[in-house]
Amino acid sequence: MIITIDGPAASGKSTTARAVASHLGMAFLDTGALYRSITLAAMRAGIEPVEGPAMEELLSGLELSYEYVDGDARLLLAGVDISAEIRTSEVTALVSPYSALACVRREMVKLQRGFAEGRDLVAEGRDMGSVVFPDAPLKVFLKSDPEERARRRVRDFEGQGREVDLATVLAELRQRDEYDSGREHSPLITPADAVILDNSRLSIEEQVEAVVKLAVERRALLPGADEAVEVEETESAAAVNLSLADLLLPPEKLRGLPVPRMSPHYRAVWHILRGLFRLLYGIRFHNEEQSAVGGPLLVAANHIAAIDPPVSGTIMHRELTFVAKRELFIPVFGRLIAKFGAIPINRGKFDRVCMDLIHKRLASGGTVIIFPEGTRKPVGKLGRPKVGLGMIAAETGAPVLPLYIKGTTRLGRAFFRRSRIDVYLGRHLQIEPLVAAGLEGRDLYTAFGRIVMEEIARLQGEAGGAN
Ligand code: C5P
Repeated sequence: MIITIDGPAASGKSTTARAVASHLGMAFLDTGALYRSITLAAMRAGIEPVEGPAMEELLSGLELSYEYVDGDARLLLAGVDISAEIRTSEVTALVSPYSALACVRREMVKLQRGFAEGRDLVAEGRDMGSVVFPDAPLKVFLKSDPEERARRRVRDFEGQGREVDLATVLAELRQRDEYDSGREHSPLITPADAVILDNSRLSIEEQVEAVVKLAVERRALLPGADEAVEVEETESAAAVNLSLADLLLPPEKLRGLPVPRMSPHYRAVWHILRGLFRLLYGIRFHNEEQSAVGGPLLVAANHIAAIDPPVSGTIMHRELTFVAKRELFIPVFGRLIAKFGAIPINRGKFDRVCMDLIHKRLASGGTVIIFPEGTRKPVGKLGRPKVGLGMIAAETGAPVLPLYIKGTTRLGRAFFRRSRIDVYLGRHLQIEPLVAAGLEGRDLYTAFGRIVMEEIARLQGEAGGAN
């Protein structure tokens, strides 16, 4: 497993990455140290930070090795330890211009990916999640106020017996951040799927604990981890002697109920997306008549790709509300998805505000889509349901329409029909029989969630399997 930790200068990346690696028994890669080493080598050879034959020659003859000894990164240049020298202010002042060169980045990416081969690794830098390891199952982005970072850096220096002035350190950090964020190749950006941790408000211990917790959760979701592939009958549902068949709700009961009108901008985008998905990915909806119902509706789908919410949104002639992790509500994108029905959720704890919003949408006859497995799962691995779906169904009484989505991870191939996206609509399910049988609280929510997943697993069978 690879964990990436990116962030601006002095945001605590190395300290965090080192501690997380040691907690989880993983290797640690300090990529800033590699860029610093190249900078030192170029400075020694008198090579300017510009692309050209001199720089290319330096890179092709570079004898740089990275070792990880006793929890510390050690850099050797032509066999000589340069770990201390790369931290001098002369190197720090020049590292950003050298790091911005395309030829330097090309070499470094090769080296970094090579180092990761066959290893569990925590890699820290500026472009770990965005460029070097884009498929890492856990990406963290560390943020904190520049003033706080500068104060921390000054304390570090003082600990090493070096006298520095806060204003100078702050100016240097700001300049380096600007350079690293504004460069053309691999700029410092927040990957869209990263977890953002703001450590102006977290201690280093809390930060490490948060990353370790996330890593353990994500590791459990990886293929091969001990994960529920088959959804079994729950003990609690079995105890009250009820099965999927008892929870089926004939769609006739839901026909004729009113459906709120789509807003004009939603309708316009809905038509465009529906047309595009058909044209580009040959999308097909199976059992589409199941969506022709009115009244409040909870749609529950398996989740394998980021595109699943818009894909599911185009099935029904209804305005769909979906729940998105709060981290996605970044300035422009956040406003855009909010306009199209997204409501934010704080993950990892119960979010009452989010629940209230869901209640409101359902109470006015709206449609809410929930991915009961919580986060995306690898193709073919239906996960255990979280309690949220059961809780919402119990509190609102809304019926559930299960969906099985197939093919959304292969968009490249689906493009122009080399492979297809298929969406299977299931049978409507209601929670009342479980409530009437006396189940309550967590037992009720989990029993219902499992039965919904059972219907999704049945649809997977109808689709001829996951692939
Ligand atoms: O993390 P550290 O401060 O040691 O990084 C030194 C410099 O190396 C950064 O300011 C940046 O210019 C460069 N760097 C980079 N990409 C990385 C890591 C570091 O460009 N992945």
